Amino acid sequence: MTKSIGTGLSLLLLLIFAALPARAAEETLDIVATTTQASDLTRILSVDVDSISITPLMGAGVDPHLYQPTESDIAAMNAAEMVVYSGLHLEGQFDTVFAALGEQGIATYALAQPVKDAGFIIGGFTLSEQYSNVDDPHFWFDPRNWEITVADLALTLAELDPVNAESYRSNAEAYIAQLGLLYQWANDGLRSVQPEQRFLVTSHDAFQYFGAAFGWKMRAIQGLSTEDEAGVGDIQETVDFVIENEIPVLFVESSIPPDTVNAVIAAVRALGREVRVGVRELYGDAMGEVDSFGGTYIGMLAQNALTIMQSYQCMGVEVDIGAWPEDLEPQPPDDIWNVDCEA
Ligand SMILES: [Zn+2]
Repeated sequence: MTKSIGTGLSLLLLLIFAALPARAAEETLDIVATTTQASDLTRILSVDVDSISITPLMGAGVDPHLYQPTESDIAAMNAAEMVVYSGLHLEGQFDTVFAALGEQGIATYALAQPVKDAGFIIGGFTLSEQYSNVDDPHFWFDPRNWEITVADLALTLAELDPVNAESYRSNAEAYIAQLGLLYQWANDGLRSVQPEQRFLVTSHDAFQYFGAAFGWKMRAIQGLSTEDEAGVGDIQETVDFVIENEIPVLFVESSIPPDTVNAVIAAVRALGREVRVGVRELYGDAMGEVDSFGGTYIGMLAQNALTIMQSYQCMGVEVDIGAWPEDLEPQPPDDIWNVDCEA
């Protein structure tokens, strides 16, 4: 009799505890994420965590080099427990804000830091007059770098929010497996192009890591940051480079005006050489709309790889685009997987 009352009571207590939110005694973990990549990753790592709130600052197509934090951005950062940002001065207008947050004891987390600590950051670049001979901030374009960031951010979130540590850990593990599939698929396809034909000519120098990851040579009309304007000299040098290397395609980036790329294409055509703009814009420093394929890191990188491979294919270059890995999500929509070269 006593035993059955005891069991009933334990069951009741168990039911009460199961109904309580996981962080009942604590407040919601407020995270602010600066770039589209930062908010995508924080969201992916916190799947099944109810007690986290993520405030993204930059939307699709926004250039993080030039983005000025608004008053409401600053208010959100002041109220946050941690600000997740890209780092290496990608957020060029945030330096004083980050310094002020540090003085107030608000944690800031640079996604680039674990990659730098692991020795995979490319240095020796000029970002602006203020920042010359600095690290190239576009580290996420090598999915193997992104895997390092995923593992490290998951550990940091678990330390801040130990109750949900297991969710962060298992989300990171599953996502790193996805990134491995993505890298393999993109690498096989991009390396199917003959090495002497692998040139990626773009408006700004965002793709050094992408090139290093997949064996393509990069050439940008303007410098690393979009703060420097391309001059007549930059355009002429790029025209010479395109002709010399018989490059058939140039690419426009979604966060940069297409003017300089169009100027190079017009000048190359005026010399009687065939050249085209990519079948789509490339995602540079900003990803697509949140609910679109390019609004996820995996979709953004896959779409860039497809855009490059399809554009070269449209110019008669032999490319072997492999089948999409069965377990890799999200799947490319038909209008991205198939291309109309004439469009
Ligand atoms: Zn950039």
